[in-house]
Amino acid sequence: SVQKLGGDKLPRYVRVNTLKTTMEDTVDYLKRDGFSYQGQASRLDDLTLKGKDFVRDMHLPDLLVFSPKTHFHDHFLYKAGHIILQDKASCLPAFLLDPTPGSHVIDACAAPGNKTSHLAAIMKNKGKLFAFDLDAKRLATMSTLLLRAGVSCHQLANQDFLKVDPDSPQYKDIEYILLDPSCSGSGMVCLRDDTSDPEKDQDRLSSLASFQLRCLNHGLRFPRLKRLVYSTCSIHSQENEEVITSCLQQNPGFRLVPLLAQWPERGLEPLTQCLRASISKTRTHGFFVALLEKHSEGEDTVR
Ligand code: SAM
Repeated sequence: SVQKLGGDKLPRYVRVNTLKTTMEDTVDYLKRDGFSYQGQASRLDDLTLKGKDFVRDMHLPDLLVFSPKTHFHDHFLYKAGHIILQDKASCLPAFLLDPTPGSHVIDACAAPGNKTSHLAAIMKNKGKLFAFDLDAKRLATMSTLLLRAGVSCHQLANQDFLKVDPDSPQYKDIEYILLDPSCSGSGMVCLRDDTSDPEKDQDRLSSLASFQLRCLNHGLRFPRLKRLVYSTCSIHSQENEEVITSCLQQNPGFRLVPLLAQWPERGLEPLTQCLRASISKTRTHGFFVALLEKHSEGEDTVR
């Protein structure tokens, strides 16, 4: 079954938190701790590791890869916030959005905050990072996680992103948005449930897709927005390519940015600028990422 292909076969991915340490110091520490460094991976098979071996990832600069059963939850580096345990695919959105240090950024559906701390690391804690989430409990967890990760450029709010006013003066300099809204989670291999009812699933998918599209359209209303990255851990085109296609039809001022030419799995035709991820092609959970960019001033927006 799909479940057997799952969790225990995925590599253990570790993101080095550059707010607290460096890649070099982390690799040195791990070597002294009994792990065996194999250099940088160059192909997919290099991510299939045994025992204490580990490598640097070939796509994401701050990512280390270990064998599936490596546990870090009690490790010093984890407790000290030097490393973040985050699936490779979920490191894509912040990396691709690439907000400049000093810029103003929104993480629209942020808890528990792994992508928020990644954004802060890319911003070098400089600028403003507004993070919203509806769920107070998840936000509380997030606050602990961000503290441990040394994030200081953030402002958390227990707020519905759809009710955040894009014309409010405090958001006038927002140039980047990361939108990782609630989704079916159908890409999360260990959570897959084969006993569900297809009709109920269809209703759930349509209501998720309409929520996702509303969030996207809302994000694109921030007046100085340059780029918005959209991601889900769903494998359903209804929550991915179809949401993006509708959004582009409704917002002709935006276009898709072609992402990582060297990434092995693309969005479904014709949205091949987007990325997909899966166990078989990328050794990650199932995932989707699209990057939208505003046409520059004076450019023809009619297609
Ligand atoms: N980006 C997070 C991370 O990487 O750690 C994971 C986000 S999770 C996929 C989606 C989140 O959206 C949930 O925490 C949920 O509470 C939140 N959410 C759902 N509806 C929302 C809304 N209208 N406004 C803000 N947050 C919302």
